[in-house]
Amino acid sequence: MTRAYNFSAGPATLPESVLRQAGEELLDWRGARASIIELSHRGPEFMQVATEAEADLRTLMSIPDSHAVLFLSGGATTQQALLALNLAAPGQVADYVVTGHWGKTAIKQAQPYVAVNVAADGDGGGFRDIPPATDWRLTDGAAYVHVTANETIHGVEFQHTPDVGDAPLVADFSSSIAAGPLDVSRYGVIYAGAQKNLGPVGVSVVIVRRDLLERTGHARAPIFDYARHAQAGSMLNTPPTFNWYLAGLVFKWMLAEGGVEEFARRNARKAAALYGAIDGSGGFYRNEVAVAARSRMNVPFFLHDDALDKTFLAEAKEAGLIALKGHRALGGMRASIYNAMPEEGVQALVAFMGDFQKRHG
Ligand SMILES: *Cc1c(COP(=O)(O)O)cnc(C)c1O
Repeated sequence: MTRAYNFSAGPATLPESVLRQAGEELLDWRGARASIIELSHRGPEFMQVATEAEADLRTLMSIPDSHAVLFLSGGATTQQALLALNLAAPGQVADYVVTGHWGKTAIKQAQPYVAVNVAADGDGGGFRDIPPATDWRLTDGAAYVHVTANETIHGVEFQHTPDVGDAPLVADFSSSIAAGPLDVSRYGVIYAGAQKNLGPVGVSVVIVRRDLLERTGHARAPIFDYARHAQAGSMLNTPPTFNWYLAGLVFKWMLAEGGVEEFARRNARKAAALYGAIDGSGGFYRNEVAVAARSRMNVPFFLHDDALDKTFLAEAKEAGLIALKGHRALGGMRASIYNAMPEEGVQALVAFMGDFQKRHG
């Protein structure tokens, strides 16, 4: 069996070596004579897994001590509600910069708890660019400012950390966490569902500045309280142990491959190759995102004639390139090229696209 190159947006491809290791360890975790997912989360075996995973993520992303790291069940969408509950007092305003679908979701989830001010909205331009920071209407004394670092569906990514003044910057990094170096100290909260760049779906990583854990926020159940999760080492209740373990293996893999600097180089080469093929196709393929806002991770593209879409997908699959169908909101194609997508996968896709154009152009 040879595995296909899998361009799924999420759940997404994982490093083959990690999957092999998880397979080998599944029945007997390092001599425990039981699987890691059959053992207590408070036992020495899982405590080792949990502690190493946090330490490795801190090393990988250079997370300073000023920030706590939480591993919580539930997806990024859950965090979009929880962060409003935890960071905003009743009646407070939070600013949202909307650059695609997930920014809108973030607002929907937060709206029951916070007065949302849409500081900027790229919808008017069809989410093909990031509204210039000079046009953002930020609120004095806002509880926080929320951005989506990388819009997974629209393929729009911040290339730099935006400057938002005194309010803590909260960023959804679900589809670009650990894709390259980042100054974590500039963020109040970084959150990410695991299933794009970190591991299997079911766990979210929340990196939160410790002073924000002291905010009163809204009345909430203990299980929705970031501070309590931090105090309990993310073990207020049973955490998603398999997901945490597998994410830990991915962190070790990223470190062994050379860390975020190396992934930044690989991701830049992959994105350059793919956008180059699209832009160089004489209009047979097109990507509509402003060059300066193009995502390194998710590349939506369209064929000049959408009647060819079905054939493209069928022939791609035949060539071992799967999950290229675009999100239903946009149509067309989307190639997600996360850290775990090898450069050979992108080269294979580029070669296939050239060949397809010759035959159908
Ligand atoms: C996938 C994704 C989400 C939603 O994640 P869930 O785990 O399904 O809640 C939110 N934001 C971004 C940027 C995403 O890519």
